[in-house]
Amino acid sequence: MSTFQAPKGTYDLLPPKSAKFLAVREAIAAPLKNSGYSYIETPGFENVELFSRGVGESTDIVSKEMYVFETRGGTKLALRPEGTASVLRAALEANLHKAGNLPVKLWYAGSYYRYERPQAGRYRHFSQVGAEAIGAEDPALDAEMIILADQAYRSLGLREFRILLNSLGDKECRPVYRDALQGFLRGLELDEETRRRIDINPLRVLDDKRAEVQKQLVGAPMLRDYLCDACKAYHEEVRELLTGAGVAFEDDEKLVRGLDYYTRTTFEFVHDGLGSQSAVGGGGRYDGLSEMIGGPALPSVGWALGVDRTVLALEAEGIELDLPSTTSVYAVPLGEEARRVLFGVVTELRKAGVAADFSYGGKGLKGAMKNANRSGARYTIVAGERDLAEGLVQLKDMESGEQTAIALAEVVAAVAARLA
Ligand code: ATP
Ligand code: MG
Repeated sequence: MSTFQAPKGTYDLLPPKSAKFLAVREAIAAPLKNSGYSYIETPGFENVELFSRGVGESTDIVSKEMYVFETRGGTKLALRPEGTASVLRAALEANLHKAGNLPVKLWYAGSYYRYERPQAGRYRHFSQVGAEAIGAEDPALDAEMIILADQAYRSLGLREFRILLNSLGDKECRPVYRDALQGFLRGLELDEETRRRIDINPLRVLDDKRAEVQKQLVGAPMLRDYLCDACKAYHEEVRELLTGAGVAFEDDEKLVRGLDYYTRTTFEFVHDGLGSQSAVGGGGRYDGLSEMIGGPALPSVGWALGVDRTVLALEAEGIELDLPSTTSVYAVPLGEEARRVLFGVVTELRKAGVAADFSYGGKGLKGAMKNANRSGARYTIVAGERDLAEGLVQLKDMESGEQTAIALAEVVAAVAARLA
């Protein structure tokens, strides 16, 4: 072991598990690529103001969890704690919304950073795949988002997840509700910090996990009863489209989520095998965010799915992904001459699109065959001086154990044909 270890709250993605991680990321991205979403990449850090304004000062993310630092030049930056604010900032900066094709549909994948108390499923460095549809207000777009996430999880074989759905209202009806809720909450026996929360983010109090708080919340005014007609109709349409698509969901009127910028549709994907870190993904509509960060009105909707927790969910359901072995052919040279010749064969195989690897380090036959086995290769090519003198190599089928002599000049074509 070296003197250094991965920092607290982080972990290294190592083979073979790293292949699973990559497959999950690809599986989440696939339905997006298939539905008009283009790839976007933004920096790992941004001006701290983008998040304090865009995500909201009152959120845990900004007030407690953000990695903030000052550059040598005196600029205050933050490691990105989430993706939406950055993606919208980039879209606005490049005027993507003016290209005349709304909504602008984007997907992304990357690392995010939050200074949290590390525990199973909760890390300080984690990975998300996200999607944003910017500049359109259409219940079908909200439904599309949820359907695509559902499709991604199902394509991985996941079944024990649930979709929680709610509407947070808009700038007309939410303030009225907020007032009513604040009035109710002020009458309760709450600790100092929760009292402060009543002023800055009262909806979050509904989300409090403590039983003694939840007990007092019985009878609290519910947002559902305050939704304006437009919000009600919008939400009903989203629900009908989901039902029409065969996507099951649960209405959860307490679902508020941590970010300030959400309006109307809000949803979360929870997995029942993950204990207290049960949210595998979430998102919603954020009609006001663009204006909050200095852009025009651009109603938008998006989600982010956690890759780490999705991998944990696969493990919880005992799902083994069908990951094909990455190496198809393994070359084992016996002697100097064979080393040069087979190295050439491996290079040719790779050029022909066959995944091939080579026994490096001048190992003997036994050690080399052990590595060939470990590589998962379907075929091994073995050659020694006597074979080469006859212009031959030995092709071994690792499944049947059968060995065939093949002309050196034909081995690339022969292997490619067998693998096809
Ligand atoms: P939680 O309630 O668990 O803190 P969140 O509401 O903060 O989640 P979001 O900001 O909605 O999470 O992020 C979307 C997804 O990213 C989450 O559903 C989760 O899968 C993942 N995620 C968020 N924070 C972490 C973390 N610290 N470690 C691992 N994954 C995370
Ligand atoms: Mg969180």
